[in-house]
Amino acid sequence: MVQAYRHEPFTDFKVEENRQAYLTGLKTVESYLGQDYDLVIGGERIKTEEKIVSYNPANKEEVIGRVSKANQELAEKAMQAAVEAFKTWRKVKPETRADVLFKAAAIIRRRKHEFSALLTKEAGKPWNEADADTAEAIDFLEYYARQMLRIKDGVPVNSRPNEFNRYDYIPLGVGIIISPWNFPLAIMAGTTVAAIVTGNTVLLKPASTTPIVAAKFVEVMEEAGLPAGVLNFVPGSGAEVGDYLVDHKDTRFISFTGSRDVGLRIFERSSKISEGQIWMKRLIAEMGGKDTIVVDKEADLELAATSIVASAFGFSGQKCSACSRAVVVEDVYDQVLNRVVELTNQLTQGDPTDQNNYMATVIDQSAYNKVMSYIEIGKQEGKLMTGGEGDDSKGYFIKPTVFADLSPEARLMKEEIFGPVVGFTKAKDFDNAIEIANNTEYGLTGAVITNNRENIQKAREDFHVGNLYFNRGCTGAIVGYQPFGGFNMSGTDSKAGGPDYLLLHMQAKTTSEMY
Ligand code: NAD
Repeated sequence: MVQAYRHEPFTDFKVEENRQAYLTGLKTVESYLGQDYDLVIGGERIKTEEKIVSYNPANKEEVIGRVSKANQELAEKAMQAAVEAFKTWRKVKPETRADVLFKAAAIIRRRKHEFSALLTKEAGKPWNEADADTAEAIDFLEYYARQMLRIKDGVPVNSRPNEFNRYDYIPLGVGIIISPWNFPLAIMAGTTVAAIVTGNTVLLKPASTTPIVAAKFVEVMEEAGLPAGVLNFVPGSGAEVGDYLVDHKDTRFISFTGSRDVGLRIFERSSKISEGQIWMKRLIAEMGGKDTIVVDKEADLELAATSIVASAFGFSGQKCSACSRAVVVEDVYDQVLNRVVELTNQLTQGDPTDQNNYMATVIDQSAYNKVMSYIEIGKQEGKLMTGGEGDDSKGYFIKPTVFADLSPEARLMKEEIFGPVVGFTKAKDFDNAIEIANNTEYGLTGAVITNNRENIQKAREDFHVGNLYFNRGCTGAIVGYQPFGGFNMSGTDSKAGGPDYLLLHMQAKTTSEMY
């Protein structure tokens, strides 16, 4: 009997012992910076000439590591390894598969601060953000292992006399896991292990900016006893390896998390039938967001301001759930805006290995350029209240930026920026605020700050997002507590960390026996 699931607690770094533990983790990471990592195909380690180089976004000179880069030929080899391994892995007992996840969780928990420090170095995550990413990875392992144990015997169906009916969930086949850089451990690990624990075999293509933490995770899964060929590690270019695998006839499903544009490309390509393909591919796609915090006039305005600041600027706004729009009812607009600017001006920013820095960088040069160009657009569309500056001489630092008085139709209020920029717009009343909140093609997260019960109910019915929060910020979903996924162009609403998630990786089989 396994213990009930409980999410991994966050570390309190004010405790000296925890602070030291993180610094020890950092030393460990520093001891292996710059190393080379191989592809893993059918358990075999393969080196290629061409490498993907991972850099520290806070110090562009520092190489985190170099991974071998798959091409189409190696992707094909990995596909064949996964097809072969599926023949046996699908028959391995669910309890045994779940055990691999439990062991992997234990290994990562033991090396928790090392993983967090690696996230600090490779993705620019300040301590608390890195700690939350590692905790979430542990949660996915613990939660999905238990979910597998829950569904392993199928669901009861009726049987008539002399009849024995069963309704079981069986795996799908080979899955392609394509993950983003912004939760380079949690989302990469969560999407991978959900597919594996349900009896599928996978090809993992991590984001090219954060492949080292993925390589370390693959090592953990091997150490936890995962047989060769179940998890094949194929970092590579999205356009080359990604397209090739999405189109492949042996691909049974794709689990993608990333931007809207890449998600839609995969949606379209995966619907075309390749020669020899005998199924319709399944797509799980979790995409972008344009997430809003609505502030009512009857509300705790300090809570509103702190929620906006934390949701907009945590990890430099690089969360699909980040608050990039604040829609405030006109009666309290100035008060909330001014307090947000005040709090924003108090945020500390700099190298994320320094515990005192609340914020660090954006991920790379192209993210830097994109966010800075949105800041220029913002200056045309609204009033710059604070921030607006960047410095990419050493790393990709952009000041937390607040724009006021934007029209709900402004580009800044409609397009995903994915950086430390929040735009304010004024609503006439609460109904108008919900209308504005809904005027985007996305539908991922949202929050409402209000003390009005009726308005809470109204938002519950009308604010069209997959994750809606009341009287708190719009980031920070916890596995098993707030299953996560969005509507409309935010994706297929797969609800990662939720009770139905594993079933997306399975198909139901009815058997009926007469005796
Ligand atoms: P991205 O779309 O640029 O890349 C995601 C992954 O897709 C990477 O591994 C990339 O190499 C790969 N890729 C690129 N082109 C491809 C192709 N043609 N075929 C197959 N794969 C391809 O996204 P990103 O910049 O890594 O991540 C940020 C985005 O992810 C944001 O839009 C964010 O909102 C979104 N996101 C969504 C969620 C969610 O749960 N909804 C969570 C995290 C991030």
